[in-house]
This record gives sequence, C-alpha cells and structure tokens, in this order.
Amino acid sequence: MRVDVLTLFPEMVEQVTKVGIPRIAAEQGSLQVVARQLRDFSGNKLRRVDERPFGGGPGMVMQPEPLALAVAAAKEACGADAPVLMMSPQGERFDQRWAQRLSETPSWIVICGRYEGVDERFLEAEVDAELSMGDFVLSGGELAVMAMIDAATRLLPGVLGDAASAVEDSFSVGRLDHPHYTRPVNWRGKSVPDVLLSGDHKAISEWRLANALGQTWLKRPDLLAGFELKAAHHMLLREYLNEYVSQWPDK
Ligand code: SAH
Repeated sequence: MRVDVLTLFPEMVEQVTKVGIPRIAAEQGSLQVVARQLRDFSGNKLRRVDERPFGGGPGMVMQPEPLALAVAAAKEACGADAPVLMMSPQGERFDQRWAQRLSETPSWIVICGRYEGVDERFLEAEVDAELSMGDFVLSGGELAVMAMIDAATRLLPGVLGDAASAVEDSFSVGRLDHPHYTRPVNWRGKSVPDVLLSGDHKAISEWRLANALGQTWLKRPDLLAGFELKAAHHMLLREYLNEYVSQWPDK
C-alpha cells in the first residue's frame, strides 16, 4: 500500500512509520508513505500557499493551484486512478469499512487541510471523497491521516503477526471484540473467568462470542442493528444478559 500525503507538515506525517505495526509494515515493504510538502508547489519565493478568504472573515484559506499541482505530482508517481481523498470534518465518517477498503487500494492520495480549509473549487475539481475522523474540529488533517494509515496498515496481509487478531477486532464483523485477560490469574481480589483456564476450546469460543455480543449490546447497541443475529446468537446474548442482570440487579 502506497500513500501520498500532501501536507504543510510532512515531518509530522512521516512519524507514522516510525513505530509499531506501520513501522514493521514499512520495513517489510508492505507500506510506503510519501509525505509531500505543499509549499514546494507554491510557485512563489515566499513558499506561500494560503490567502485571505474572499468575502472577509477570520483565518486563511489554502489556494487551489498549489494543491492541484501537488495532486498532479502524486498522480504521476501513483498512477492516474489513485483516489484523491480530502481530510475534512465535513466528510464521510472514517470507519473500519473504510480502513478495509483503503487496505485493498494499492495507492491513494490524501490532502491535509490547515487554517480554515481549502478553496472549494479545488474540492470540486480534484477530490474523490472527503473523510472525517468524527464530529470535532482538528487544527489540521495530519493526525487524521495518520490514524487512517495505521488502521488500514494493520489489515494488510502478512502485517499482523496473527491474522486472526484483525478478524476478531471490534467492528470487523459488525460487533465489538470480546474481553481479554492475562496473567496473573488473581489480581487484587479479581480472578479470570474459569472457562478461560479450562482448556475447553469450544466452551472458550462460546464464552467469547457471548461476551462480544453482550458487550456490544451494553456499550454500542447501535452496532447490533446492522448485525445479523442468528438463533444461537440470541441464546448466547440472552444468557449473557441474564447473568449480567443477576450481578447488577439495579442496572
Ligand atoms: N473550517 C473548517 C475546519 C478547518 S480545520 C470547517 O469548519 O469545516 C483545518 C483542517 O483540519 C481541515 O481542512 C481538515 O483537513 C482537518 N480536519 C479538521 N477536523 C477534521 C476531522 N474531524 N476529520 C478530518 N480532518 C479534519
């Protein structure tokens, strides 16, 4: 996966390949991040890429020409059919499905805005999709694109040590992940559920599924609306909730 990021802060975006899973992916050649300095496309000595907004008002707006030139350079390297994505709080919400889609896209180009954002004509002319991290306003798109690169990278084949772990993760199958426990067996008076120590693989996977469904029901019931609950799921969920209610009668 190759990602070309157009930004005023390439040194910030480059950090994403310095640690953890993206670093391993970059080292093994599954991930390449090319951060391009937008000022290199300014066409002026001061390397300026922003101007005051027409119509007045606060802040500055990124000019369309340097952005378009940077996209052209990125397309030259990535191929003309690489999608052009714009980070924006007005965009479609980035989620696990988008992470999956991007992990299957061999190269993509992303623009990070700063200031008040970019000239609307550039969006119309060059951008295929606007993507948002959520309903809040960042001061720039860099943190958002770093999050997208990280999420997509861990889905690339051969990148996670155990491919099963991405399948089990929250959202990948329309529900949350099950709870996890590790050593010690007893910690501050709390012990690990017996079944996980039983060695009975069938019972363990049933417990995990019941708990994944139960946690989703409790924490993110909206997700279950899109999840096809089979009869067996209903049963596990009912058992989980009965148990939960008996432990916390006033909830
Ligand atoms: N005036 C704009 C916000 C500009 S914030 C508005 O209200 O819509 C500056 C830049 O930060 C944006 O161009 C975008 O690239 C990035 N950004 C801010 N919030 C974001 C979010 N929630 N998701 C993705 N990018 C965001």
